[in-house]
Amino acid sequence: MNTGNKAVFYITDNGLALAERLKNLYPDIDIIKYSSRAVQDFWGPDKGLIFIMAAGIVVRTIALLVEDKRVDPGVVVLDEKGQFAVSLLSGHLGGANRLAIEIAEFLGGRAVITTASDVNNMPSLDLWAQEQGLAVEDWGLLPFAGTQLLNNGVLKVYAETFVNLPDAFLKTEDPGIADVCITNKKVVFPALNKQLYLRPKNLVAGIGCNSGTTASEIESAARRVLDEQNLSFQSVRVLATIDVKAGEPGLVDFAAKHRIKIVTFTPQELNKAHGIDKFIEKSDAVFKATGAYAVAEAAAFLASGAGTLIVRKQKIGNVTVAVAEERIARSKIYVVGTGPGGIEHITPYAQKAIRESDAIVGYGTYLDLITELTKGKEVVSTGMTQEIDRCRTAVELALSGKTVAVVSGGDPGIYAMAGLVLELIKDRNELSLDPALYVEIVPGISALNAGASRLGAPLMHDFAVVSLSDRLTPWELIEKRLEAAAMADFVIVLYNPKSKGRPDHIARAREICLKYRCPETPVGIVKAAMRENEKVIVANLGDMLDHDIDMQTTVIIGNSTTFTWNNYIITPRGYASKR
Ligand code: SAH
Repeated sequence: MNTGNKAVFYITDNGLALAERLKNLYPDIDIIKYSSRAVQDFWGPDKGLIFIMAAGIVVRTIALLVEDKRVDPGVVVLDEKGQFAVSLLSGHLGGANRLAIEIAEFLGGRAVITTASDVNNMPSLDLWAQEQGLAVEDWGLLPFAGTQLLNNGVLKVYAETFVNLPDAFLKTEDPGIADVCITNKKVVFPALNKQLYLRPKNLVAGIGCNSGTTASEIESAARRVLDEQNLSFQSVRVLATIDVKAGEPGLVDFAAKHRIKIVTFTPQELNKAHGIDKFIEKSDAVFKATGAYAVAEAAAFLASGAGTLIVRKQKIGNVTVAVAEERIARSKIYVVGTGPGGIEHITPYAQKAIRESDAIVGYGTYLDLITELTKGKEVVSTGMTQEIDRCRTAVELALSGKTVAVVSGGDPGIYAMAGLVLELIKDRNELSLDPALYVEIVPGISALNAGASRLGAPLMHDFAVVSLSDRLTPWELIEKRLEAAAMADFVIVLYNPKSKGRPDHIARAREICLKYRCPETPVGIVKAAMRENEKVIVANLGDMLDHDIDMQTTVIIGNSTTFTWNNYIITPRGYASKR
């Protein structure tokens, strides 16, 4: 961010007078009489534009110039009296928030900041940390980090776990230059400058102790082990132990004092700590006393959700301590369903996931439907049949530290990308020790929901969904499933009803249904549901092939009780006798 090159645009004499006052704040500022031409000439990255006029004029003037938040300059609007300095565009990267704050301070007015993740004032840095589940190690350093941010416009963040970073936070791989370090290590790099440490809560301390051990003995043992291993006590989220110790007073007091949760396991659970049972140190004495061969290591490992045992058992006086680290996700992949058509059928949560992502990966046609959401982001668009490439790209982008959204139409888990992404990651993690990627599947309205809603209520009773695409499934298997579904009187939803290579699939599906259902059985044909070229047809098994059915179409074939009424298709729920 650099708003070194600034101009102030005015219209009225009062505006000019105010502009001249700003010269005292920014001696190099250009004072320019407003015209849309003049604005256009000055516009560009790394600039700062200040307007003294109605916001509406500014909005109309810059509307055509705005591109994307990485290159747009900061824009601030002032009223003629200098009472309000409105940060209008590029609040973070473009520096408009900072500009507005400086100007308001100088003029004795108020800055109007609307960015949600505004980080120029301190409360939001700690709010952000809180939202990300991070503990602030030294509150005294918060103001320092705030000053860094104001002076440099960015805060350099080194993170060993996945966090969502606001615009003004820049990720760095070098802890030596970071302003903020997000790590469970006590010290990650002996930096010369002050650094603010934020602690992810991702450590589990496995504790074993003799009865009657005091809270302070347990605490000092735990702290000593963590200290020696360069681990932060503040990252401890859970104390894990054996069930008989659940009420051990010293342990309970220690946990309560620091608000750490206690998690316990039965001896049977501890003895079956799969994954580490081979190398866990087993003690016969412990077994005799408790029924478990090992407490601290096994409990820590289990409570970490099959994470990594990073500190083997240490015995200090009456206490044994082991430490496990929960699986660390350094970055995140959302697999997002964008629904059948335009933006209004994408869930708000899915929109949020896309907005939060740095990179969007998807199939061209789906991406075209959501361009409003992907502006200014890295967009990787691939062809329809390149699913695996698409997922691989997504995983690579995520491993490079980006938040990635893999988007697919409808629901991502229905003939789409969710399974592929998970399988790819599974393969990677079996072969290597890659840091786990955090994957979240974000559901969407599938073609069957969209299609059914347009037709009325055809899916009110049991239904089967079959894709007629034999690209990845042998046709014999598809026929077998159609046959079974038809025989069992399921309502049948057909996806991918017609492919270029095999136009006769749909005819074959119809024949199979006609073996069990009469030609009058209602059939709904919905093309491009919720899109501009939507077409809804209520037909029947007899005449369905007379209608246009293509790859944008979903076909719903009724069961033996499905009927039509006023161009609706209705499958009764089976309660007819109760009405
Ligand atoms: N994941 C998608 C399905 C992908 S398979 C979903 O959950 O909807 C592609 C098939 O879905 C298409 O051949 C078509 O049968 C169906 N389809 C997808 N979008 C559709 C729409 N808007 N209208 C009708 N059918 C659609």
